[in-house]
Amino acid sequence: MKALIKTARGVGNIELRDIEKPTPGRGEALIEVAASGICGTDMHIRQDHSFYTPPVVLGHEYAGTVVEVGDGVSNIHVGNRVTSPATQYCGQCYQCKNAHVNRCTAENKKILGVSVANGGFAKYVAVPEYVLHKIPEGLSLEEAAMAEPTACVVRCVAERSPITPGDVVVVQGPGTMGLIATQVAKAMGASKVIVTGITSDEWRFEIAKAVGADMTIDVLTEKDPVGVVASLTDCAGADVVIEASGSAAARRQALEFVKVTGHVTLLGTQGTNTDLYLDHIVEKELSMTGSWGTLPSTWVLTLRLMASGQIDVKPLITHRISLEEWEKGFDLMETQQAIKVLFTNLE
Ligand SMILES: [Zn+2]
Ligand SMILES: [Zn+2]
Repeated sequence: MKALIKTARGVGNIELRDIEKPTPGRGEALIEVAASGICGTDMHIRQDHSFYTPPVVLGHEYAGTVVEVGDGVSNIHVGNRVTSPATQYCGQCYQCKNAHVNRCTAENKKILGVSVANGGFAKYVAVPEYVLHKIPEGLSLEEAAMAEPTACVVRCVAERSPITPGDVVVVQGPGTMGLIATQVAKAMGASKVIVTGITSDEWRFEIAKAVGADMTIDVLTEKDPVGVVASLTDCAGADVVIEASGSAAARRQALEFVKVTGHVTLLGTQGTNTDLYLDHIVEKELSMTGSWGTLPSTWVLTLRLMASGQIDVKPLITHRISLEEWEKGFDLMETQQAIKVLFTNLE
């Protein structure tokens, strides 16, 4: 089968190669991949900016149908439609024992499409049964391929941010994560979601409105973005700000958008030191949270929100390509001309 492989450390070193179809080991299911998404992490791996262990078949956002099961698999059957988180955990370390399986510290931890475990940019992928989730009826395999980034947002917003009915929420950054965060905030009862971005985000603002944003602000052309948010909240500021842009300027602005006793959620890392005026936390009595990956329970909630239509990822899928076109897909993501690019033809 054809597989897209990061062959060695360094910039680039990604190739489409022919490899053996995997056979499911004990406790594993073999899945025929119907769709798998290109993620920012894949860009970081391409540019050698991120942790990974080559050679590895890339792809950690996938969905497909079980075609074979290994010994000892009991709850997953041939024909089941499934998806899963990327991270496989040991169940034995201190973090796992404390139910923080998203922070498992096992050495040589398998992360699908990143480290040790071959991922979903291939026709077949072998995945342990214990991390798999069955896809609810009514949710397509293409939509389910978006469950991984969606679950990361659900973890950070639904499980780690105190949004309550009526809240005014600012989401910074109309990329995949921000557009999903917008919908999660609405599902939690936010009365208004304001999505901020920059001038080149203009076309993403249209998608933001289509998925529920009440207002968008271009922070480069709007003279007083903080004043605009204040004017919507009796001069108080946003109840909750979700930083989903990955920019240092947005982090600084988050502390200005937020009201006294408000909350700032950091959705994702930046990999650098950010120069922040942390006195805002004292002066405004703020709270801040972040999150890392997902818990199994996050996936149960995520698939329910997706199946119910409270999160609709269809408008976020802007491109569908074949494995042969991988370079075009990566370039579209890198130049921010796409929200989500899916491989849908993995022959
Ligand atoms: Zn991802
Ligand atoms: Zn562990």
